Amino acid sequence: MIHLKTQEEVELLRENNLLVSATLAEVGKHIKPGITTLQLDAIAEQFIRSHGAVPGFLGYGGFPNTLCVSVNEQVVHGIPSDYALREGDIVSVDCGTIMKGFYGDSAYTFAVGRIEPEIQQLLDVTKEALYKGVAQAKAGNRVGDISAAVQEHAEKNGCSVVRELVGHGLGRNMHEDPEVPNYGARGRGPLLKEGMVICIEPMINLGTKYVVFERDGWTVRTRDRKPSAHFEFAVAIGKGGADVLTDFSIIENALKA
Ligand code: MG
Ligand code: MG
Repeated sequence: MIHLKTQEEVELLRENNLLVSATLAEVGKHIKPGITTLQLDAIAEQFIRSHGAVPGFLGYGGFPNTLCVSVNEQVVHGIPSDYALREGDIVSVDCGTIMKGFYGDSAYTFAVGRIEPEIQQLLDVTKEALYKGVAQAKAGNRVGDISAAVQEHAEKNGCSVVRELVGHGLGRNMHEDPEVPNYGARGRGPLLKEGMVICIEPMINLGTKYVVFERDGWTVRTRDRKPSAHFEFAVAIGKGGADVLTDFSIIENALKA
């Protein structure tokens, strides 16, 4: 069942997703060779709580931390650890909040120092694929229009789309209907209506699309161990188009500073 949101509810979701964006910016400032992913997690938890919210992932389905931190071949759901980031790594940081009864959920993949050009291209293609999907997120379109736009952009650029994990509706629950796959056919799937809030979150691999679920019960990695990137926006479907509730400019300005 798809829950349509009032404008007041959309604003509460925006508050949450802007806090997630600010948290990712704070985390991004600390991403340097030598910092451990558990240290990044502590920074995020403290930041979220100091802004009057609660980490959305902590305890969700038993997840042990505030952030999902997925390095290099890890696709999503990596558990923070004492792994120290190294020059040339990429690190996908997925973050959630709960505040005023609603969730925030967004993700960004960061470069650690200088990275290989083909890995930079993977980051660029994944972020562009997200934007292509967002351009289709308008009332009257279908979920498949988003999915196809993401898939076409990734595959046209020689990358592959993870099938096992998908985007989703967002509201009083972190995962609501509809599912928003990153692959599919135009004109198929649920109709997009004003008041729907969805997370569009391409998970794009440099090599094969196939993934492995690790024995820790959480981490998903690429089967060929080539790198994977993940960018996620929460968007509200408006009459004229997508109202993006996440703000990457907060993150990117923090990285430039
Ligand atoms: Mg997420
Ligand atoms: Mg999500």
